[in-house]
Amino acid sequence: MKTILIIEDERDLAELVAFNLEKEGYQAVTAFDGASGLEAARTRNPDLIILDLMLPGVMGIDVCKMLKKSEKTATIPVIMLTARGEEIDRVVGFEVGADDYVVKPFSARELLLRVKAVLRRSLPDRPEGKILSIGPVTIDTARHQVVVAGEEVILTTTEFKLLLNLAERLGRVQSRDLLLKNVWGYNYVGDTRTVDTHVTRLRTKLGPAGDLIRTVRGFGYKMEEP
Ligand code: CA
Repeated sequence: MKTILIIEDERDLAELVAFNLEKEGYQAVTAFDGASGLEAARTRNPDLIILDLMLPGVMGIDVCKMLKKSEKTATIPVIMLTARGEEIDRVVGFEVGADDYVVKPFSARELLLRVKAVLRRSLPDRPEGKILSIGPVTIDTARHQVVVAGEEVILTTTEFKLLLNLAERLGRVQSRDLLLKNVWGYNYVGDTRTVDTHVTRLRTKLGPAGDLIRTVRGFGYKMEEP
């Protein structure tokens, strides 16, 4: 059974989300502020975190940054809850590292679709594992580990899948639509801008090796040997 942690200070909303998730067969854990949310993320080891952007005390953005910085919680996918007009670009961009976002007010169905899509993405789909080396970048698929010039780089599940998709098709251009389908899944409701923000974030994390991911203007991306 998958465990989902909901960090949301509006208790009615948190409980409504928990109720809907439990109805779908998930185990729901609720936390009503950032500090107890971080604590629950560390102790309950959830499969997914639904995190409200506006929280008292530690803000949602900072909670997300802390989750992504800690090795223990960095790979747990995060869906951010935002109000319309809040800074979605920052949320899905490099600065915060959320895997997806849902704009309030949302329907239970909308949130469940996102939850299912994000969980599907985070499933390990290559149990046998292999090692890919592209220039200074080494990707260990079994351990979900990326090392650049001897230093481990911590990637989110989505960033890892994106890098792997590019690395496995070395030198071949992939359209944004194809990447969206392969990395985010067929049922993903979103636009190709999502691909661009994640590629930007991935490049930054890879440092100088980020240049191995080339933009093919008006079409998509490809990864090349240096
Ligand atoms: Ca709130």
